[in-house]
Parts: sequence; structure tokens; C-alpha cells
Amino acid sequence: MSLTKKSGKSGCYAKVSEDITMLHEEILHRCFRCGYCKMPSSYIDLNCPSYLAFRFETYSPGGRMWLLRAWLDGKITLSKRFSEIMFSCTACGNCTEHCPFPGFKDLLLEAFTAARGAFLDEGLVPAGVRDYLTRMQLHGNPYGLPAKKRADWAGGTEIAPFTDQEYLFFAGDEGAYDTRGQEIARSAAKLLAKAGISFGILTMGENSDGNDVRASGETALFEELAKNNTDLFNKKNVKKIITLSPHGFNAFKKDYPELGGNYQVFHYTQVLAFNMGKLKFRENSDPVLATYHDPCYLGRHNMDYYSSRMMLSAVPGLKIAEMDRNKQNALCCGGGGGNFFTDVLSSGNESPARSRVREAKATGATIMAVSCPLCAIMLEDAVKAEGLDGDLRIMEVSEIVNDRIL
Ligand code: SF4
Ligand code: SF4
Repeated sequence: MSLTKKSGKSGCYAKVSEDITMLHEEILHRCFRCGYCKMPSSYIDLNCPSYLAFRFETYSPGGRMWLLRAWLDGKITLSKRFSEIMFSCTACGNCTEHCPFPGFKDLLLEAFTAARGAFLDEGLVPAGVRDYLTRMQLHGNPYGLPAKKRADWAGGTEIAPFTDQEYLFFAGDEGAYDTRGQEIARSAAKLLAKAGISFGILTMGENSDGNDVRASGETALFEELAKNNTDLFNKKNVKKIITLSPHGFNAFKKDYPELGGNYQVFHYTQVLAFNMGKLKFRENSDPVLATYHDPCYLGRHNMDYYSSRMMLSAVPGLKIAEMDRNKQNALCCGGGGGNFFTDVLSSGNESPARSRVREAKATGATIMAVSCPLCAIMLEDAVKAEGLDGDLRIMEVSEIVNDRIL
């Protein structure tokens, strides 16, 4: 089902309405509010981040479905509150994983994305969303920072510009511009180099992968960002891409091909998982108990639950204690769907990130391993908010390995 916006404002709105109406006819009326979509498979907990944070039924996937149905039936109109409800979805995919209706459940996120497009076309979006998309439009990144600074994270390292290496390494927005994200980008790149992987980076011209812009419903802007990247990648003869972020991995793998960007795409853990034998670990490493947080765009969206665990399993002395909600049941950190930048979910006691670090602490682990820079930053803030500094350390998987190799 295409959600592509075609032309000017009224045309866009007509198209989005048409998409929603098609979805309405096909699926919206079938949701009978059973509520499975807001739970993990065990049904013993809540697993929709926005429902967890707000505890109103309208913030659950089924609640959103019924709101959309009421809107299309003319019973309610688009409003500021309705918009906040739609934009508080983190696109985590728990609902598509756990709604019991085959053929219908896969369209849930498409329905929410199309609805967001309708709000955008009406100019009815939370201020954080408006500002996020404006920065993306003007600067090609969500930080509003100059494009020429995009490769600064690699300054002082031996990372080479991309010429004819096997892989392009794509650090993404957080890897390029966020101080913590830059550390993580350097750590992953260092490990790739240690494992003998041939890669380089682009020093200018690339912009955001646009994954979360697409999830925000701004499909025209997503296509613009993707076109800029694919034109550049194709000109540079890029064939294989390694991403730092699962969000970029998802966009390049699933959405770029239909826009002319056909590459072999890997998350960096997928390359390293099969090259751990090339690394030499220090002897007599201290034993440590770690737990692993599955990022939504590597896990549920792309069904890779094992690359990071394979890397961690190769670390001498490290044992993994799984959280109750793991793999396809993992709770989102709350940063998806643009929420990392728009903060529509906010950060109260029941924020998904704080709930998640409490769950990690309950395993007895002292390290919470992550493989996404957004998760790392969200969960580090949550550790501070929970007063767990010194008890639970958020570490990205490559950092854990780098700490223990020669
Ligand atoms: S979206 Fe699916 S799981 Fe959720 S309430 Fe509706 S029918 Fe039930
Ligand atoms: S994608 Fe995640 S946050 Fe959005 S409605 Fe579904 S479960 Fe809730």
C-alpha cells in the first residue's frame, strides 16, 4: 500500500485521506479492542510504550484504531489532543507483533503513519514534531547542525574516506552529531578495523537516513532525504553498507530499494558476529553479568535477535541474564518514531526508558548492553533519573568487546 504524497497540500491531504479510507475499509473496523497489541506474549505486563506512559486506552494501539475509525466516520475531528496521541507512538512494532489477526496486524503501523501524514497536512502537530521536521528539512539532520560537520566524529582516528573499500560505514545522525553517539561510532569503527573489515566513510554530502521521518508520516521529506543519499551512494559506487544504528539499517534495507537505492545492508553487529574469532581477548577478565536490550529496528522490525548476543557470548567471563521482556517481547526505550527528538512521550516515572532500566536492574546485571545509539542515550538518561548510577552501566556492545580485547 502506497502512502506516498503526490503533489501540493490539498493533493497530499486527499491522498493521505484516501490511504486511511482504504485502510478503514480493509481493516480499521475489524479491531475489536481485545488489547493483545499492548502486551508481550506472556500477557503479564504492558508493552506499548505510549500506553505504558499515559495509561489511557486512546494511547494504546487498539485505542488509536478506534479513534481513526471515529474520525473517518465523522464522529470526531482532528484536534491537538488527537495529534499528540498519534505522535506518541514510537513505531516500536509491539502491536504488529502481538495483534492476533493475520493479514490485518501488519497494517497497524501503516495506518498510524498515514494518520500522522493527515495531521501534518493539516498543520496539527505537536511543537516538538514540527521543530524536528523543520530541522530535517533545513539541515538534513535532526540536530540542525552544519552538514560539513557530519564526519567530524572520525577526526583524530585512522578511519579512511570511502573510495573502493568493501563497505561504506554509515554513522547516522546520532553517531555524527551527538557526543555520546560519536563515542559509540568510534568504538564500533575501531572494532570493525580490529576485525580486519575493509570500510570507509563519506566525508561530505550524505544526510539523515530518514527512517524516523518516514515513521513520522512525512513521506515526501523522507523521499527527498533518501534520494540525496542514494544519488551520492550510487555516484560513489557503494555496494555494501554497514550502519551504526538499527534505524538506518531498517531504512536502507526496507525502504531505499524502491527509491533506487539497492545495497547489501548490515548492522555492524551482523558483520562482527561472524568475525569475533579474529579478535584476541585479554586473559583473566573479571566475570560480569550483563543483560541485553533488543532495539526495535533490529529486533521486531528485522527479526535479528542474535547478532549482538553472539558477540556478547564470545566475551570471556561475560554471562547474559535475560530480562523478562526480551527478543520479540522487548520493551522499546521510547526513542523510536522520532520521539528521541520530539519528546512527545516525555520522561516521567512510567516512561518506557525508566521502566526498562528497572527491569534490567532486576536481573542482577551490572551492565545493560545495547546496540543502538538512541537506546544508549535514552537508557543512560533513565539510569540517572532512577538513581542507578554506579549500579547499572549502559554499554554499547562494541564498547564491551573493546574493553576486553588486546
Ligand atoms: S489492534 Fe489487534 S490486538 Fe489490538 S485491540 Fe485491535 S484487534 Fe486487538
Ligand atoms: S508501534 Fe508500539 S508505541 Fe506504537 S501503538 Fe504499536 S505498540 Fe504502541
